[in-house]
Amino acid sequence: PAKPTTLPETFRRAADHVPDRAAIAYFDARLSYREVDELSDGFARYLAAHGFARGDRLALVLQNIPQFVIALLGAWKAGGIVVPVNPMYRERELTHVLTDAGVKAIVCSQRGWNAYIADTVRDSPVGIALTTSELEFQTRDDERVLGKVVREETPGAVELLEAAATPGPKPPEPAFALDDTALISYTSGTSGTPKGATNTHGNVGTNAAGLGAFSGLPAGSTLFGLAPLFHITGMVCEVGSAIDIEGTLALAYRFEPGVVLDAFLEHQPSYTVGPSTAYMALMAHPSFSRAHFASFALLYSGGAALPPAVVEAFRAKTGHYIHNGYGLTETTAGCVVVPGTLEAPIDPGSGTISIGLPVPDTIVRILGENGEELPPGQPGEIAVEGPMVVSGYWNRPDATAEALPGGRLLTGDIGFMDERGWVYVVDRKKDMINASGFKVWPREVEDVLYTHPAVREAAVVGIADEYRGETVKAYVSPAPGANADPAELVAWCKERLAAYKYPRTIEVLDELPKTTSGKILRRELRARG
Ligand code: ATP
Repeated sequence: PAKPTTLPETFRRAADHVPDRAAIAYFDARLSYREVDELSDGFARYLAAHGFARGDRLALVLQNIPQFVIALLGAWKAGGIVVPVNPMYRERELTHVLTDAGVKAIVCSQRGWNAYIADTVRDSPVGIALTTSELEFQTRDDERVLGKVVREETPGAVELLEAAATPGPKPPEPAFALDDTALISYTSGTSGTPKGATNTHGNVGTNAAGLGAFSGLPAGSTLFGLAPLFHITGMVCEVGSAIDIEGTLALAYRFEPGVVLDAFLEHQPSYTVGPSTAYMALMAHPSFSRAHFASFALLYSGGAALPPAVVEAFRAKTGHYIHNGYGLTETTAGCVVVPGTLEAPIDPGSGTISIGLPVPDTIVRILGENGEELPPGQPGEIAVEGPMVVSGYWNRPDATAEALPGGRLLTGDIGFMDERGWVYVVDRKKDMINASGFKVWPREVEDVLYTHPAVREAAVVGIADEYRGETVKAYVSPAPGANADPAELVAWCKERLAAYKYPRTIEVLDELPKTTSGKILRRELRARG
């Protein structure tokens, strides 16, 4: 296998090779590779001049805007480690991440600024860089005012693009070793307090190059950023892959179905990746049409379960197949992926669609209770070894030892492999429901609910039950214009699932709670009871 290149090196190659090609497209704005190179040089100069040194951490608290890419590359050019942070986080979550990572500088938008963000870098000479409001989506006057207030209350806060555009000599580019940390990526927190996974430059470079090659993306393609860039999928499969294929990354601030559909027509992307819930939301939008997808060659779903009924509905409506891909923050995005030229098999027993085949140089094993390797067909914990598996968690040797014994990642997901090596996820180990001693995997029940035309989204959880220990409850949101009748849905499941599996109660909500990366939060539904 070819030695992976770090993403900063890959960017250097692209900027020298195709300087005039658009690197980023954002509504009406286009930034060429040369412009992104120069702006990120300028930002690196600014950081270095303010004492930001090799190994220092810079947090990016941003939506999908061009400044994300400029600041990312600029921080790397200054030798730093980047900490992507969800801009929807509130004080408690932000403070945890920013202090845990010990950030020295923060880039946030004027809209996202808060006194407590400023507080975490109070003693740093670099402090805060704000994004200019000009390129921001739906800029309102009050944000300009807020920007002024931020600068007044936060001495040293600068406009990122202003700092980046200040002329000066080209800064020296640091050489990164493959095992140097590139990112500290906090897990989504679907199952608990976010931990910072340390993705090395080798991890990021491997997946940025590997996913494009594995899926067969032609050089120069336009990729649409459907997944948030602060999530590892967006960071690697969108920013990383776009740079790797010297293509254009089209962005649209954040996932807003109507805006995204318009952006598809405007930018004519040939590739995108997002959670399955994004495809469901697009299909439910009133302006959704086949024409919106005419430019696409390849669509991926990753980060959450992909119900086969969604794949079929999407194909019927657009003519496109959705390719599945599986990964974790700890595998720096995809590690088991359906190749772009193939369709995933469906397991005849469970009806589950395969998550794909291990990507090159990656070994997937299914482990039993005592760590023994299980034969095909038998479910156990999915363990992954490969060049994209993280080195550990930031400042958490305990969590590193637990999840990565001997460098092999224990994913916490239950799955199995078929005779031909296709891998299937049954569910998260922690989400198993124990109903009168019977194991119920929420996924299987959700897949059945998704086959009902009145269901848009479904989530199944175990709730306490005096008699059975736990009992199965489903939450659904209705398809547009449909009437999701709980009694009818219970009957639908009863007809298709064993008696211990079908949900005894079904509650209909307008929207199911989700993380900002689009994953349905079963944890919150479980707490609701
Ligand atoms: P936290 O670790 O804080 O709970 P999280 O697990 O949601 O957050 P991620 O690393 O983003 O953080 O998610 C990885 C998980 O997403 C996997 O362990 C798996 O459960 C699920 N997942 C990812 N891709 C797929 C897929 N294609 N099919 C089914 N599940 C998937």
